[in-house]
Amino acid sequence: MLATELPATEKAGARPGSHATALLTEADRLMTVCNSCRYCEGLCAVFPAMELRRAFPDGDLNYLANLCHGCGACYVDCQFSPPHEFDVNVPRVMAQLRGDSYAAYAWPRGLAPLFARNGLSISLITALAVAVFIFGFVGWHDPSVLFGTHTGPGAFYKLMPHNTMALLFGLAFLYAIVAMTLGVRAFWRDIGDPVAVDRGSIWRAMRDATTLRYLDGGGIGCYNHDERPNDRRAFYHHLTFYGFLLCFASTSVATVYHYAFGRIAPFPWWDLPVVLGTVGGIGLIFGPLGLMIAKLRRDPVMLDEQRLGMDFAFLMMLFLTSLTGLLLLVLRATSAMPLLLALHLGVVFALFITMPYGKFVHGLYRFAALVRYAQEHRALTHK
Ligand code: SF4
Ligand code: SF4
Repeated sequence: MLATELPATEKAGARPGSHATALLTEADRLMTVCNSCRYCEGLCAVFPAMELRRAFPDGDLNYLANLCHGCGACYVDCQFSPPHEFDVNVPRVMAQLRGDSYAAYAWPRGLAPLFARNGLSISLITALAVAVFIFGFVGWHDPSVLFGTHTGPGAFYKLMPHNTMALLFGLAFLYAIVAMTLGVRAFWRDIGDPVAVDRGSIWRAMRDATTLRYLDGGGIGCYNHDERPNDRRAFYHHLTFYGFLLCFASTSVATVYHYAFGRIAPFPWWDLPVVLGTVGGIGLIFGPLGLMIAKLRRDPVMLDEQRLGMDFAFLMMLFLTSLTGLLLLVLRATSAMPLLLALHLGVVFALFITMPYGKFVHGLYRFAALVRYAQEHRALTHK
């Protein structure tokens, strides 16, 4: 039997019984092999963090998995990758472990199964949310409201009162923040001793996260199925991330306009919420599209294929949020506005409530892992 066909606990270096799952046992085996080899130590943060350890408890393995950006360089460079009998595939095992860790730290625990068939769950929740908004508009008025033309300040609130909209989305957002905070807190407690976080480590982690420092495969980019590395994933990730921030800023400014200055949406095209939303929205169209194409071009051997549904569902949610928002902007003076508003609100509401149970959490866990890494690095260099 080939080593690639052996269960994780029977491969060289595996320590059965000391981990909660077979995947954690496999990750321990890989880190033990890598710790003897150390060929990849210049590629990213995972290997230097690994070298600080002689044993790999579950929490540490989850930390290393979330530190990994999945660039694929260590798979391509590895002399022990399949078909070698050591069967070393760090990107794939780390990707699988990351997925497991999102569910393991989810709050409340009862909703962790949403990660299992994530694509289907998010699709159903989104469809349901859109339907509820459509029927809500009709229920508040009558079916003809869906095909009428509503213009001028307050046009959106003829379909749904502003206070109801603000309360609904405020509660959904608050729930997402609480659930994700509790998830990250559990992760943080599990990945090391609870030491106070210093400003320098947070600053370094922010710099590493916002520049995607460890997505560059040690300087040459991410690997695809043709083994030609490029920086497209980083570029599209930047478009997505900064597009999301600009859209969030647009909504925040619009809220301040409403409550502080009594200015009512929709706003003219040159106004700050519209400018921020349009620029951010364009980023959120091309960023997720580019990331979906990049994902299809990657070598499947390095991916967690079981969770591609989760990745695509999240990217599709961002894409749809932007597409419906931009269409709403362009067609707001036409009879298409009511249906587009229901679509947009439904997608955004579903995005909010599913945030703690989808790919969105990868950014939070990765940031926490980068803070931990920065702390370890500072402690080492201050000695
Ligand atoms: S991935 Fe392979 S080459 Fe890199 S450190 Fe591990 S065993 Fe060595
Ligand atoms: S896939 Fe990239 S980021 Fe992940 S461990 Fe390998 S080199 Fe590091």
